[in-house]
Amino acid sequence: MSDPELTGPAALEDAFCAHTYSPLPVTLVAGRGSWVEADDGVEYLDLIGAYSALNFGHCHPRLVEAATRQTARLSITSRAVHHDLLGPFCRELASLCGMEAVVPMNTGAEAVETAIKLARRWAYTVKGVAEDQATVIVCDGNFHGRTTTVVGFSSDPVAREHFGPFTPGFRRVPFGDADAVRRACDDTTAAVLVEPIQGEAGVIVPPNGYLRALRSFCTEAEVLLIADEVQTGLGRTGTTFACDHEGVRPDLLILGKALGGGIVPVSAVVGDWSVVGVLTPGSHGSTFGGNPVACAVGREVVAMLGSGELQERAALLGARLHAGLAGLVGNGAIEVRGRGLWAGIELEPGLGSARSMSEALLRRRVLAKETHGSTLRIAPPLVIDETDLDWAIDRITEAIMAAC
Ligand code: PMP
Repeated sequence: MSDPELTGPAALEDAFCAHTYSPLPVTLVAGRGSWVEADDGVEYLDLIGAYSALNFGHCHPRLVEAATRQTARLSITSRAVHHDLLGPFCRELASLCGMEAVVPMNTGAEAVETAIKLARRWAYTVKGVAEDQATVIVCDGNFHGRTTTVVGFSSDPVAREHFGPFTPGFRRVPFGDADAVRRACDDTTAAVLVEPIQGEAGVIVPPNGYLRALRSFCTEAEVLLIADEVQTGLGRTGTTFACDHEGVRPDLLILGKALGGGIVPVSAVVGDWSVVGVLTPGSHGSTFGGNPVACAVGREVVAMLGSGELQERAALLGARLHAGLAGLVGNGAIEVRGRGLWAGIELEPGLGSARSMSEALLRRRVLAKETHGSTLRIAPPLVIDETDLDWAIDRITEAIMAAC
């Protein structure tokens, strides 16, 4: 092997970092708002938005200020003691969600695991399910993270292969079909776990009324409705939560990504005490969950969403994005799906892979990434300005037309 130090950071990454991703051939060194700069000085418009972790853009001054101020003051305490920001953060986040209590974690997958533990313990101690029999209903095409339990109920063979044996207690049903949930449910069912819009599956929007039907079924059957809003939540779809589009309040809300302001990993499960209260000291926890820096940034994120301005902006710019991309249908795209400032462009099979389209966009100074073979996912920071968005739509159109 040649000395990787001589061949740059991407080669070093290849030589020393596990090969769990296929990154685009670009090395970023700086970012501001919706723009990033590569190591050769070229600037790119970022439509990946770190898969919705960057709803507020790169290095938002208010969030950077909160993080740096708190880092220099008190950064990590563990939960062995109190610190002065955890209570305020939890109160403010619970209030944004219209709920009572928060379990603070770090990554999306951990928050999903936390919600599953909550649902199981609730089933045994409140609903009266026989010990070790609880089941959770999940959907085909789901993406909830990468832990062994979570990939165990994935329908994606690449995510599961050679990682078994898996945790039992999950039943998978087609996404978007509330009757299938009803059929899969029995006395052992603790919860239904669902993404209101499936992100990794390719921005799949379920039929109108699906979430409402799940809500009324879960209430009737005494089953918890758990909404994984790690990717859909915090403004992305034009409302604070994607469940808001159907006026649905889940029993547990799973949040992550943008909750950390694009700066630190912050996730949470939010619910009422009737469910969150089943956790007792020692039964769950995290060294870093709810740390002072996470809380300082999280409080700013919650405050920034408090006025509703960003959500409104996502709705307005989202309408502009979808209007701008609509002409691609039948002209290189089979379908453009999504809601708010979020789109999945399903490319026609003859057009080549979505990966080659990502590379064509990279040459046009636009960052956008494929999900699965044929979908291009567009999730710019919600702070993107109109001119940049229009420019991006033109570049996408141009790249797709060039391949037609
Ligand atoms: N849930 C959903 C809906 C997600 O989209 C993701 C990440 N793409 C996760 C959970 C996992 O989040 P993390 O990568 O932070 O563990």
